[in-house]
Order: sequence, then structure tokens, then C-alpha cells
Amino acid sequence: MTFVPVAVERPGGGRIEDKTPPGPADIVVVGGLEGPIPMHRCAADGWAALTGAARADGHAAPLLLPVSGYRTFEEQAWLWKAALAKYGDPDVACLWVARPGTSAHQSGRAIDLHLGDPIESEYAEGMRTTAIHRWLVAHAATFGFYPYDVEPWHWEYNPPWDVSGPAGE
Ligand SMILES: [Zn+2]
Repeated sequence: MTFVPVAVERPGGGRIEDKTPPGPADIVVVGGLEGPIPMHRCAADGWAALTGAARADGHAAPLLLPVSGYRTFEEQAWLWKAALAKYGDPDVACLWVARPGTSAHQSGRAIDLHLGDPIESEYAEGMRTTAIHRWLVAHAATFGFYPYDVEPWHWEYNPPWDVSGPAGE
């Protein structure tokens, strides 16, 4: 029953470094808050295990349903344009939306999770005080997920290689 997250990059164990897009065979689709969400199959397995544990601890749906997962370069470019329009200053915008080509979302292993509020910067402070966010801080690494401090909803699947890497490596 114990879930062992499968490492994707080395050394792992923190934010995603390798932002290579997943191959088509590595992309699976998960039911999200507002529709189907594509993501890396290893991140999907980690997300399913994490969500199962959270549900057992009393955090009911729709909490933790994904709102965003794998993004193509074109989707990231569209989001970046919208962030520039919202924030005006690119140095502020890039705190909330990565420039096209630099987003962890293009790896398919970054997931934005529904924590009860819209995924907008205005709600970030409040989301950090929720029970579900405290649960994630305490448990997410067990399932291979690491936080991005600016965005309480954004979690990156990147388990450490030394724990779960292939034998003999
Ligand atoms: Zn994100």
C-alpha cells in the first residue's frame, strides 16, 4: 500500500530542473476541476496517491483536483501574454507566470491544485492558511511533490533519485 514515487530526474528532491517536454507515451489525462488535464504519467501516479491519502484524512473533492498540468510552449506563451497584460511589469509577471520555454509545466510534472479559491495571485496569501495547504506542506514530499513558495497551489513532482532511482545507478 505504501506509495514509492518514481524519480524522473537526477538528483531531484526539490523544484524541477529538467523541463524537457514529456514524450507522447508519457502523457496521461486526469480528470481536473474544470476538465481533462494532461500530465506526465509519473506525476499522475503521485498525484493519485497523494489525493487518496488526503481524502482519507478528510479533505474532500474538489480539493486537490488539478487545474493545470502539462502545458505546451504555445499555451505558456498565451498565459505569459495574459500575465503581462495583468501585471504590466514583466519582472512582476514572471513571479506568477513563467516565460515561455522556462515553465516547469512544460515538463508535465508541475501541477496546479485546487485549494478552494481561484488560482490568482490575489488569493495566494489566504490559501496558505487553509487546512489543505497545511496538509500538503506536511505530506506532499512523501508523494514526490515539492512546493513553489510564491504560489501555494503549484506543486512539482520531482522525487529524489537516491530514494527511488533504478538499482545499480
Ligand atoms: Zn503552476
